[in-house]
Amino acid sequence: MHFEAPISLVVAALIFGMFAIADYQILGPIREYYLLIAMRAVVVGICLFLALIMVIRGDSSHRMWLHALPLWVLATGIILIVPLRPDSLSTQIMAVIVATIGFYLLIPNLLTVVAFASLYLSIGFLAAAALFAEASPGALLRLALLLIMTNGVGFCALLRLEKLQRTQFALLHEERDQNRQLLKEIAHRELLEEQLRRVAERDALTGLNSRRHFMKLAEALLQVSHEDQTPFSLFMIDVDHFKRINDTCGHSQGDWVLTQVAEICTQALRPTDVIGRFGGEEFVVALPDTDAEQAVIVAERLRRKVAALPLEEAMRELQLSITIGIAVARGDELSLQSVIARADQALYAGKREGRNQVVACAEIETEKRAAEGLV
Ligand code: GH3
Ligand code: MG
Ligand code: MG
Repeated sequence: MHFEAPISLVVAALIFGMFAIADYQILGPIREYYLLIAMRAVVVGICLFLALIMVIRGDSSHRMWLHALPLWVLATGIILIVPLRPDSLSTQIMAVIVATIGFYLLIPNLLTVVAFASLYLSIGFLAAAALFAEASPGALLRLALLLIMTNGVGFCALLRLEKLQRTQFALLHEERDQNRQLLKEIAHRELLEEQLRRVAERDALTGLNSRRHFMKLAEALLQVSHEDQTPFSLFMIDVDHFKRINDTCGHSQGDWVLTQVAEICTQALRPTDVIGRFGGEEFVVALPDTDAEQAVIVAERLRRKVAALPLEEAMRELQLSITIGIAVARGDELSLQSVIARADQALYAGKREGRNQVVACAEIETEKRAAEGLV
C-alpha cells in the first residue's frame, strides 16, 4: 500500500519525460528543443527523487508537502512547455486535461492538495496560453470552461472516492468493535459456564462432589477398575439420628455436623477416593483399588473419627455417630447403581442392628464366613 504513491509518481514522471519525442517531432533540434529536454529532465529527476524519498521514509501519508511537491513540479513543467512550444497549444490542452484528471485520480492524494495543484496548473496554463501562445480571448474562454469542467469532474470523482473510503473505514472500525465486543462476550460466557459448572459439580454446604458429579466420576472409576481387574469398593455413610441433632440444637448445628463429617472423610481418605454428598445427611465414597478387607478397615477408621469428634457445649449430651454400608463391585459388575443399592442394603442392616457401625454387604459376609470356615 505504501508503494502506491511512489509508483504512480514514477509513472507520471516517465509519461512526462516520454513527451520529449513529441518535442523533437514538433521543434526539431533547435535551442527550444534542448531547453525543453533540460526542463523535462529536471522535472523527471525531481519526481524520481521525491518517489525515492517516499519509499525510504515508508508511510508518509502525514507529510503533506511530500505529496504536494511532485504535483506542483509536474504542473510547472506542463506550464513551461507553452512558452517553449507555443505553436502546439491544442495538443497541450489535451495533455493538461489528462494531467488534471491524473492529478485527481492517478496519484493518491488528499483532496485539498490535489485541488490546489490542479488550480495552479489550470491558471498557470491559461496565463501561459494568453502570454506566449497568443490565444484569442474567445479561445481562452473556451479553454477556461474546459479546465473548469475538468477540475469539476476530477474534484467530484475524488470527493466521492474519499467519501467511500471514509464509509469503508467506518464500517471496518464498527466491525472491529463488534468483534472485540463479541470476544468479550464469549470470555464472559465462558467464565459464567465455568462458574455454573463448578456450582453444579459441588455441594454448596460441604464442598464435596454433588450427587450427579459423584455418579459421573465413580462410574468412570468403576469402568477403569473393571478394565484393570482391580477391586472397587463403595461406602454409603449416614449420620445416625441426625434429625435429633437438628431438632435439639437447630439446623445450623446440623449443618456444622455435616461439614465436619465431610471434612473427616476428606482428611481420612486417599486423594484417589471420590467422595460425594448423596443427599441430606448421607454421603457416598468410591474407593478404587480397594478390596473388602481394606474397605472395612478404612470405614472403621472413619466411623471412629466421627465418633471422637469434639462437639460444642450445646451438643454434648448427643452422641454423634455414623453408620457405614460397604459394597464391593463384583468382577463382572459394571452398574454403579447396583453397587450403590447393595451398599444401601448394608447401611440399613447396620441401622437395624443399632447404628454406629460398619456393615459390609451380604457377599462380603458370606465370603468372610466361608474364609472362617476354611480356616
Ligand atoms: P437415622 O439414624 O435412621 O438415619 O435417623 P436420621 O434422623 O438421621 O434420619 P432421617 O432421614 O429421619 O433424618 C434426616 C434429617 O436430615 C431430615 C432432614 O431434615 C435433615 N437434613 C437433610 N438435609 C439437611 C441439611 O442440609 N442440613 C440440615 N441441618 N439437616 C438436613
Ligand atoms: Mg438418611
Ligand atoms: Mg441418618
